[in-house]
Amino acid sequence: MPRIINFHDIDDRQWFEDTLDVIQDKFEIVPFSEIKKFYKGQSTAKNTVHLTVDDGHISTYTLIYPVLKERGLTASIFVSPKVISDRTNFWYLESAEYDKQKLRECISEVLKLNIEKLNGFYPRSVMKTLRLDQNWEVIELYREKFNEPIRDCQYINPVQLIELEKSGVFDIGAHTMNHPILANETERISNFEIAESVRMLSEMLGREVDTFAYPNGSPILDFGKREMNFAKDAGIKYAFSFLFKDLSRNDDLLSIPRYGLHHGDKDFIRKKLTYGPVWEPIKRMFFSNEDKYRKKIQKNLFQN
Ligand SMILES: [Zn+2]
Repeated sequence: MPRIINFHDIDDRQWFEDTLDVIQDKFEIVPFSEIKKFYKGQSTAKNTVHLTVDDGHISTYTLIYPVLKERGLTASIFVSPKVISDRTNFWYLESAEYDKQKLRECISEVLKLNIEKLNGFYPRSVMKTLRLDQNWEVIELYREKFNEPIRDCQYINPVQLIELEKSGVFDIGAHTMNHPILANETERISNFEIAESVRMLSEMLGREVDTFAYPNGSPILDFGKREMNFAKDAGIKYAFSFLFKDLSRNDDLLSIPRYGLHHGDKDFIRKKLTYGPVWEPIKRMFFSNEDKYRKKIQKNLFQN
């Protein structure tokens, strides 16, 4: 069965090259059109992999693009038309290098919670249980309190977007405007984040956009049926989530599973590709994972 492998930002070209070597040892890397054929029953797409890259980080342009071009490969990318044109950062990138304890301090102030409740939790995971407006309130407070400057935009610019579109290397789809955890937002905001990103990206690219990736992407935890319907209403035919699973013809096309690869040497990547489909469900059953961790935070923060 085919599978989809996802990347985010990359800071090491060699790591990306090594990872592609390992993937190409075992699989054929195919364009998204092959995955569409698979879902339409026109191809078995046996032993194939399609690559996707989320967020439109500048490394998509500076590292991933030249490597794929050199190897004659293609990938799908999912971007926010808003950060590209406003030259801003998503909330998690803006706060990525903030001091953890100072960040906890700001979160506790914004949420009017005793800081004790936050001790021991990663502030980034706590922020994933909040709404976008709360996260920006936390960031504003941090900047004010600790005299923190606004970071330069870390994403591709509109000219680069058009170059990537014209290159033939990438299929470009939408990824919301501001990268919220959609499930935490009101119906109105969740719908806006999806529909407006599709509309604005279509306008920038001068064509219809029918692919989308949910921010963070865990079904139920990060998005649900509500978001799948919003995506469908916005004209999306294929929407991508995160689930460590190969593709199957029974997949809901509005929640297509993807594997994430972020780190590890060649040996680790090889093992993950080979045993991942078996190992991941077991890991989720017996060990802590992000879903459980965030539920624990929510319980700890907002109950009693
Ligand atoms: Zn993302």
